[in-house]
Amino acid sequence: MAGRATPDAWASRLFDMATLKPVPSRLFRSDEELAALPASERIRYRLVSAGRRHHANDNIAAFVREGELDELKAEVQAKMQEVLRSLVIDTESDHNTQETAKRVAKMYVDEVFRGRYQPMPAVTEFPNVERLNELMIVGPITVRSACSHHICPIFGKVWIGILPNEHSNLIGLSKYARIADWVMSRPQIQEEAVTMLANELQERVRPDGLAIVMEADHFCMHWRGVKDAESAMVNSVMRGAFLKDANLRREFLSLLSRKKP
Ligand SMILES: [Zn+2]
Repeated sequence: MAGRATPDAWASRLFDMATLKPVPSRLFRSDEELAALPASERIRYRLVSAGRRHHANDNIAAFVREGELDELKAEVQAKMQEVLRSLVIDTESDHNTQETAKRVAKMYVDEVFRGRYQPMPAVTEFPNVERLNELMIVGPITVRSACSHHICPIFGKVWIGILPNEHSNLIGLSKYARIADWVMSRPQIQEEAVTMLANELQERVRPDGLAIVMEADHFCMHWRGVKDAESAMVNSVMRGAFLKDANLRREFLSLLSRKKP
């Protein structure tokens, strides 16, 4: 009889002991099954299978296959169209919003959140042949991001202080800006963004000391909420020599304030 579990089928089912609900018996999907899923589900399946975190500010480029970003854009467009519909906007007769869903999907995937979907920009590292060991400051680097809480723009500046040692790798000045841009082009919160940027630079440059200061305007504070026109948030990360040496920290911060526009 249809729908009735035979003892064998019953025995093969797994139950979650906390909820007593059956666990889906097909934990592994075939390529054909995956191909039938929307691209976002396929990518999520690979991330979950690999046990990889995929928060708003995580890069997931290694789990996206060729052509899937176009599929993602089509998915986001269709759902964005539904959002406009739920906002009771007549996108058919309103010529201003006819293409909005498509524009927003492209903006998210290809532009403002591309740091989630694109691999890290290629950065050449050079050995420190001159054995430079003086404080280096890069900045201000203009950075654009969006807050994870409201998907509102964050617009700011970043200063990076590096104290290299003879074993440090050096990277070209413009590369600091490219790595910063890659980290910031994701929905972020500022405290996590500076830590992520510090981790990327620490791994590549391996300096004795690393300092990052970020000062940014959060448009969710201007556009909504308290509507405060003067609120900028400043964060810093200090590592290695910058933590231990108050003079070095002071030197960095004083050069930085002189460099502020
Ligand atoms: Zn916000």
